[in-house]
Amino acid sequence: MILLKNCRYIATFDDENRELEGYDILIDGKSIVKIGENIPERGEVIDCSRHLAIPGLVNTHHHFFQILTRNLKGAQNAGLFDWLIFHYPVWMKIDEEAIYYATKLAIVELLKTGATTTSDHHYLYPVGLTGDVMGIQVEVARELGIRFAPTRGSMTMGVKSGGLPPEELVEPDDTVLRDMQRVIEEFHDPSDFSMTRIILAPCSPFNVTLELMRETESLARSYGVFMHTHLAETLDEERYCIDRYGKRPLSLMEDLNWLGPDVYFAHGIWFNDEELKVLADTGTGVSHCPSSNMRLGSGIARIREMLDLGVRVGLGVDGSASNDSSDMLGEVRNAMLLQRVRYGPAGMTAREALRLATRGGAELLGFRKVGQIREGFAADILLIDLTRPQHAGSLSDPVASVVFTGFSHEVDYSIINGKIVVEKGRVKGVDEERLTELVNDISKNLVD
Ligand SMILES: [Zn+2]
Repeated sequence: MILLKNCRYIATFDDENRELEGYDILIDGKSIVKIGENIPERGEVIDCSRHLAIPGLVNTHHHFFQILTRNLKGAQNAGLFDWLIFHYPVWMKIDEEAIYYATKLAIVELLKTGATTTSDHHYLYPVGLTGDVMGIQVEVARELGIRFAPTRGSMTMGVKSGGLPPEELVEPDDTVLRDMQRVIEEFHDPSDFSMTRIILAPCSPFNVTLELMRETESLARSYGVFMHTHLAETLDEERYCIDRYGKRPLSLMEDLNWLGPDVYFAHGIWFNDEELKVLADTGTGVSHCPSSNMRLGSGIARIREMLDLGVRVGLGVDGSASNDSSDMLGEVRNAMLLQRVRYGPAGMTAREALRLATRGGAELLGFRKVGQIREGFAADILLIDLTRPQHAGSLSDPVASVVFTGFSHEVDYSIINGKIVVEKGRVKGVDEERLTELVNDISKNLVD
């Protein structure tokens, strides 16, 4: 048992949006069993009199392997298509060891900045890579203690067939389908406090075949797992779909039966009015990635309008070559600020941004008991010390303080599924210096 004693402030994000002062939270096993005042002390007691407690954050879109190619000079100022074409030859050389360490470093960054659940969209399977990529990623997530929704990504349409990636990065459709089925059977856990939910995720309309999209849909729905892909990220993509298929990206998805509460798209910047209504009516979700959208100059997603229409939205940091960090609390801040650039100061509140990053993300990934501080829910809780210098002068509203302020977005404690994973700002069981050195060595070899 863990007792979070006398929390200075709790933002629950429950159905009533309760915010509580001086309350305790009792954790037993994987879940929160009681929220109340003066709960008798038992188990491990953490004095939370200086801390804000909020639900752990949920990152819905990432490409961990890109950690190894952050900030490459040749792509710092490129838009999506040129940026991809620049990176493909470098990514060709990524191997199992590189994937292991990139995954580990990305998860460490996420944990330190408040993510307690993350997805990863790994679509890179160069010819010659024979290892069990998803197995490697699941092993690292388990080792570090983060809740994980890995997606089986893929690219199956190369330049010869009119796609964007080189043939060396393309897999045959049937290889992908076989591996999708394998990873569902091997790793997917649909239970309430699941630590691993598999999602199927062909990469983008411009690098997979429509046949694979169709087959993925029927496989996913036969197993009850969710589906994900990039969509409406750039005008280049929109033109590609119109030129090649005679359709805008979302109507292509509609034809393929890729709409519904078990589907969510990364980015969703260029949806028109009618398409926003389709998303709302079908319960289809959007993973908003504001930092990446700014970095690549892709555009500003219409999140304000999506929320008003009832579209389901979560947040994602996106891959590390287009962010270039896995700073989850920082992403919350950017989400709030970017909507204000488009819609003015009422474009998004701090609490709305946090809600996207907690409940919003948990819903997109299918974790039913995650995203709220609530009795019976998974004990995924962040503790943030409000006496840090960055919060000084901002404590009239401690919840908004963690979004508005911040030269550092690191949390003090992170509890995931009832286990303390980050303690006093350090990820337990990780030698951060050694890990950083290893990642730098691998990155240097790749880039050279
Ligand atoms: Zn992405």
